[in-house]
Amino acid sequence: MSKLKFQKPKGMRDIFGEDQEYLDRIYEVVKKISTFYNFQKIDTPILEETELFSKGIGLSTEVVKDQMFSFKTKGGNNLTLRPEGTAPIVRAYIENGMKNMPSPSKLWYFGPMFRYEKPQAGRYRQFLQFGLETLREEGVVRDAEIIAIFYEILKRLKIKNIIVEVNSIGSSCCRPAYIQNLSKYLKSKKQYLCPDCIKRLKTNPLRVLDCKNEKCKMISSQAPKLIDNLCKNCHKDFKELLEFLDELEIPYTLNPYLVRGLDYYTETVFEFFSIEENLQEESKKLALGGGGRYDLLVDLLGEKREGGTPAVGAALGVDRVIELMKENKIEIRKKQKAKIFIAQVCALAKRKSLKLMGEFLSARIPVLESFGKDSLRAQLKMADKSEVEYTLVLGQKEALEGVILVRSMSTGKQTKVKLDKIVQKIKKMLK
Ligand code: AMP
Repeated sequence: MSKLKFQKPKGMRDIFGEDQEYLDRIYEVVKKISTFYNFQKIDTPILEETELFSKGIGLSTEVVKDQMFSFKTKGGNNLTLRPEGTAPIVRAYIENGMKNMPSPSKLWYFGPMFRYEKPQAGRYRQFLQFGLETLREEGVVRDAEIIAIFYEILKRLKIKNIIVEVNSIGSSCCRPAYIQNLSKYLKSKKQYLCPDCIKRLKTNPLRVLDCKNEKCKMISSQAPKLIDNLCKNCHKDFKELLEFLDELEIPYTLNPYLVRGLDYYTETVFEFFSIEENLQEESKKLALGGGGRYDLLVDLLGEKREGGTPAVGAALGVDRVIELMKENKIEIRKKQKAKIFIAQVCALAKRKSLKLMGEFLSARIPVLESFGKDSLRAQLKMADKSEVEYTLVLGQKEALEGVILVRSMSTGKQTKVKLDKIVQKIKKMLK
């Protein structure tokens, strides 16, 4: 028997009504600010080769191990719905020869990502991210720039109590030795770790540091900290980053346990929170966005270059920002309300009315209509309900004569205007 009722896939949602208004506002703000800071928009395909993610993000990460929507195409290719934006952008950067374009490459994106996660508040299987990536330029000024832009975006969206957590996870110069040290310590406390962390001990010991299990947190609090074991260079970079944040007056806290879930990060990592969210149970604390530096990724994905390709980026969780804006009843400018309603009563009038819509569009005057209805009474009732100032009535007689009736909804007064003059006339009347 065929199915009578369809439902959206688990963990996915329809975005409509008020949510679309918030989404439009977020898009407007991120576009304006990214463009101001000279980022250029890039759209990459929603599907990529699976190996791009397993290699780029790391085989031992939760995203690659458990969360990818992967499948084989009829042609036998292994593809994956992108779980994040950075690896695809690095692929596009290499494939399109962007290294030959003026330096640095500054790119922004906005689109859906897919992760097979357990659906819960603020965690979906399809979610929207806005992101920035700056490639091929050294210096923590670009890390600070991205943090500053995210801060500005959240401020403009009227998100309150924004705080950035920052950390440095070092690089190939100091991290391997630290991880050895950390592993040794964690192994000695193995009996107190949760089952997931026991697995992480083998695959990704750094991730034990951001486990939310209370016992694991206790063990981590006594663990050697990477921040105290950075090499001279990484230490200098981190200090410089904090000086930038001080200068920019961005509220931040140091979180030595912040490691982020993806393998490609080096040195700077950060996450944005709204403190009101932090007041919830610690285990439910959800970040609004996060990012960091990934100096080795371009090289890892195939483009070897003398001195490497320094890069830094971040992604904002748009769905979580929408939720926060709604929760805090943040007001956004409503779209211009229509002041004109077109009512029509025969096939000829309908044709002329549809043409008239196009003319109002060119004049940027928003108009409501009810082309699907034939009864004039029903249409006038609708016009009344929608609180427009004027209703334009086009009957068969008027359509043949090339005129239209203009009815003032406040006085009920009706006048006849030539059809080819109506847009100009309305423009004047609305002034
Ligand atoms: P990540 O790089 O994984 O930290 O993701 C960046 C941001 O995207 C996070 O801070 C969240 O705001 C958002 N995000 C990540 N995963 C999800 C998800 N499953 N559902 C909704 N938002 C998400």
